[in-house]
Amino acid sequence: MRSIVKNDTVKVISGNYKGKTGKVIKVLVEKDRVIVEKIRMVKRHTKARSAQQPGGIIEKEASVHISSVMLVCPKCGKPTRTRTGQLASGKKVRVCSSCEEMITGE
Ligand SMILES: [Zn+2]
Repeated sequence: MRSIVKNDTVKVISGNYKGKTGKVIKVLVEKDRVIVEKIRMVKRHTKARSAQQPGGIIEKEASVHISSVMLVCPKCGKPTRTRTGQLASGKKVRVCSSCEEMITGE
């Protein structure tokens, strides 16, 4: 069970963006990194492809290491650690360590 999945809200706990929150756009599973909306924006230069797509500089999110973000519990609103719980059906779920509520996602 992954602690952070796509569409989670996370809080950055270290680095330049410390204290900011954002939504997880993508989890790079093999690299243990996540891409978070509006966090760690970097400028990328793009080449013109056509008249409709002129080249230029676009801003795009770069990934951050999964250890530098913490899940914000949708139930209690606190940045929290999760543990894995199990439903009666056998399905594994994440459980908030602060409020003990089940956190859905993925
Ligand atoms: Zn909670």
